Amino acid sequence: MDIGNPTRTRAILEKYGLSAKKSLGQNFLTDPNVLLNIVAAAEISREDDVIEVGPGIGSLTEQLAKQAHHVLAFEIDQNLMNVLDETLDPYDNITIVNEDVLKANVNEEVEKYLDGDHHMKVVANLPYYITTPILKTFMASTLPIDKMVVMMQKEVAERLTAKPGDKEYGSLSIVVQYKMDTQVEFEVPSKVFVPRPKVDSAIVSLTPHANWEVMPDDDKDFFKTVHGCFMHRRKNLWNNMQGLYGKDPAIKAKIQTVLDDLEIDPQIRPERLTVLDFIKLHNRIKKEGL
Ligand code: SAM
Repeated sequence: MDIGNPTRTRAILEKYGLSAKKSLGQNFLTDPNVLLNIVAAAEISREDDVIEVGPGIGSLTEQLAKQAHHVLAFEIDQNLMNVLDETLDPYDNITIVNEDVLKANVNEEVEKYLDGDHHMKVVANLPYYITTPILKTFMASTLPIDKMVVMMQKEVAERLTAKPGDKEYGSLSIVVQYKMDTQVEFEVPSKVFVPRPKVDSAIVSLTPHANWEVMPDDDKDFFKTVHGCFMHRRKNLWNNMQGLYGKDPAIKAKIQTVLDDLEIDPQIRPERLTVLDFIKLHNRIKKEGL
């Protein structure tokens, strides 16, 4: 019987005397259809190596291993190591690394365990408390990732996929969509997890896209501009930019010049600007030395 169903999951937890650790975002998936749909959304085949974050007791890992060439999974919880040894024993194409994925040298582990001849995908039922840092880590990495398919809190999924003018559109939408095309694949109700999380979830796919027609010199600096422009959502762009750069008359004059040049209305709310608008705004601001 596969790991990912309610009976086997409860039996495994009982056998090892495990209770899910809230502090590590442990909510185990127990629905075979959801697991298969995640693997299908990621279009996993023997051409693919998969990086998984947080295998838990191995339910998603197992379904990935059935389709992929190799699965490299990072699990922070030492107590799960002997469980995974047993549950994933039938598969010889899985490597579990007992490390915090945010502290691990992922490139080094990839070099060690993956052969470089396969496509690379990231598939995970993420620990929700660190969804954004994990996504940012993979987006900033030099790994040749073709696609990420990840489960997260529905509310975060909405922010990642929101378009200008949407209620959920904000700095996270821009920072992610700057690099990736994002799409909600499907929603997942809380009842398919043990224990049940307090929130509903969704599977999001993220695919790297080509560079924009203009790009900022420095990603981190660009993100600072974006975050600053959204510092106070209810304020307009002009007020947020003054918050970011200062209210000195000389600075105000520079901001005015930038906005005039780009034909952006200072009264506009930041959530009306597209990713490309923000890149142009950022580059123009830097030219003014702000
Ligand atoms: N993949 C399993 C499933 O779908 O049933 C478990 C998913 S559970 C939502 C998240 C998993 O991530 C847990 O196993 C947890 O221990 C692990 N985890 C939490 N923080 C982590 C970190 N910083 N690095 C690696 N794994 C982590």
